[in-house]
Amino acid sequence: MLSVKLAKNIGFCSGVRRAVDIVEETLIQSKSKVYSLGPVIHNPEVIKRLEKKNLCIVNSLDNLEGSSTLILPSHGSSRKILNAAKKKNLRLIDVTCPYVSLVQKICVLLHKQGLEVIIVGDRKHPEIKALLDLAPGAYTIDKPEDIKENIFSYKKIGIISQTTQTKDVFFAVVSEILQKNPKVLEVHVYNTICLDTLHRQDEAKKLAGSVDALLIIGSSLSANTKRLLCIGRKINKRTYLVENEKANLDKILKNANKIGLINGASTPQWLVKEIVKKIKEVAEKLLKCHSDL
Ligand code: SF4
Repeated sequence: MLSVKLAKNIGFCSGVRRAVDIVEETLIQSKSKVYSLGPVIHNPEVIKRLEKKNLCIVNSLDNLEGSSTLILPSHGSSRKILNAAKKKNLRLIDVTCPYVSLVQKICVLLHKQGLEVIIVGDRKHPEIKALLDLAPGAYTIDKPEDIKENIFSYKKIGIISQTTQTKDVFFAVVSEILQKNPKVLEVHVYNTICLDTLHRQDEAKKLAGSVDALLIIGSSLSANTKRLLCIGRKINKRTYLVENEKANLDKILKNANKIGLINGASTPQWLVKEIVKKIKEVAEKLLKCHSDL
């Protein structure tokens, strides 16, 4: 008999919940088109629903007319974009997560204090791009192996992390920087991984160790979802990314009695419920096949 163990925190994190609520309210209130520069959050299933409610995703501000409403995404926007939007006189609705805003403030502070800013995260991610804009010349480091010897020696440094970084990587990078740069003059370390991320990662670890297969529900575009997948796989090889109900659950569930289920921060509760429903259908089908043998 198949049993499904759900993580305690199912559905959006607080930052994504807030962002989606504001966007939906704006779509209801607005009499003209509402635009978003790129996706507001990293989940295509949610974006599809918002588009049906008339959110218009654009890749550039070029064709937007003055006074149009523009949503600024939950993961933050670069200064370049903010300045361009203000120049065009767009009506801005900023849904940047408060945790992301806090990291931005810390980043500016470190930069103003004259420290070399080191960001532990993925430089291609929009959150990090926005931080690099606030602290020009900042270093980004994705993994401990990237750290070179003596690059920060005789310097004052400030280290922050992407909000969705894993604690293991963050601490390993900090330790590696210090070991390879013994003559660093001053170090300011801010663990800026958000609380929601920390809780989800801890839960993923616990679940991975107690089930036959772990399903991470979320998008391959989402940084925190991909990190949950890595965390799960280190403990349990049968950890799978499930983006939507089209996933090959027959294969995933084969020979598994205990299934664990956790979702990325931008995965809605309704999608998790749909997957649970699908799991039950597949489990019944597998059971039937088994009894027909
Ligand atoms: S994962 Fe954390 S930082 Fe990102 S939106 Fe959610 S609460 Fe905010």
